Amino acid sequence: MADPASSDPQRTGDLDRDNTLLQAAAFAEHLQRSGVAFLPRANPDRVAEFKQRFAPSIPIAPATEKKAAVEQVAEEKILPKPPESRPESRPESRPESRPEFQSTSIRGEAAKRYPCEARPVSQRTAELDTLASTVAACTKCPELVHCRTQTVFGEGDPQARFVFFGEGPGADEDRTGRPFVGKAGQLLDKMIVACKLTRDEVYILNTVKCRPPGNRNPEPEEIENCRPFFESQLEIIRPQYIVCLGAVGTQALLRSKLPIGKLRGKFHRYFDSKVVATYHPAYLLRNPAAKKAAWADLQMMLKDAGISLR
Ligand code: SF4
Repeated sequence: MADPASSDPQRTGDLDRDNTLLQAAAFAEHLQRSGVAFLPRANPDRVAEFKQRFAPSIPIAPATEKKAAVEQVAEEKILPKPPESRPESRPESRPESRPEFQSTSIRGEAAKRYPCEARPVSQRTAELDTLASTVAACTKCPELVHCRTQTVFGEGDPQARFVFFGEGPGADEDRTGRPFVGKAGQLLDKMIVACKLTRDEVYILNTVKCRPPGNRNPEPEEIENCRPFFESQLEIIRPQYIVCLGAVGTQALLRSKLPIGKLRGKFHRYFDSKVVATYHPAYLLRNPAAKKAAWADLQMMLKDAGISLR
C-alpha cells in the first residue's frame, strides 16, 4: 500500500524539515560534547532567508507554536545550560572512587554529568597516550599478566560520537594489540558500516585490557581492577553514545546484574552518554538469529542520533 505521506507534498515537506532539524540539533549537541564551547543562537530571519534561497520547496514554519518548539530545541539541545558548578580544570590526580552511576532508564532521574570539562582533541590524544602507557605497565591481575602477550588499550577517534565497548581481548587481539580484529571484529566492522560509520570515526575499547586465559570471562575482581582505565577512557572521549557489546561489558558499565536480554531495547545513561546494550558479535556469530535484535538496537540509536539509513 502506498505511503500516504509520499503523496502529500505538505506532509513530506514537514517530515523533511523535522528530520533536518533533528539532525542539526543532534550534530550541534555532538559538537558541544566534542569541546566546541559556543554555538551562535539561530536568527529566525536568517533561517528564513536561507530556506528561501536553498530549499524554497520546504515551507517555513509560521512564527507560532512551531517556532516556539524550534527555540525550545535550541535552548535544550543546541545551547544546553552549563551546570551550576563545574571544576575549572582537570584535577591533577584522578580520585580513587568515582561518582556512583545510577543504572536508570534514560527517562528516569536526570543523569549526572562527566566530572570534567570536554578537552580539545590534542589534549584528549595526549591523555589517552599517557593512559595507554600506564595500562601497558599494569600488573594488577597476576593471572592475566602471566598469560598476556600485550595489553589491548583501544583505538579510534578520541572525540568519537559513538563508542563500542566490548568484553576483553581474544587471541587475535592479544597477538596484534588491537581490539576486535578477529572474526567477531569483522562482524563488528560490518555493524559499524551498516550504521553508515567507519571504524576510524568511532572508538573501540574493552572492559579488561588483558586477555583472560582460554577466553574465559573476566573475573569480577579483574573488572574492578581495570575499571579506572575504561572509565578514564570514556571520560576523555565523552561519546554521545556507548554501544555495550555483550553482558560482561554492559553489566560492568551499568553496574547491573541483569541479563543482556533485559538490558537491551532501551537507553541507559552513563554520565552524559546514552548507553545502548546489545549482543556481542561473538555471540551473534554463534547465534545468527539474534542479529535481527542487535540490528534493532542499533537502529534505535541511529534514529535517536538523527542518522537516516535511507
Ligand atoms: S586487565 Fe586491566 S587491571 Fe588487569 S592487569 Fe590488565 S590492564 Fe591491569
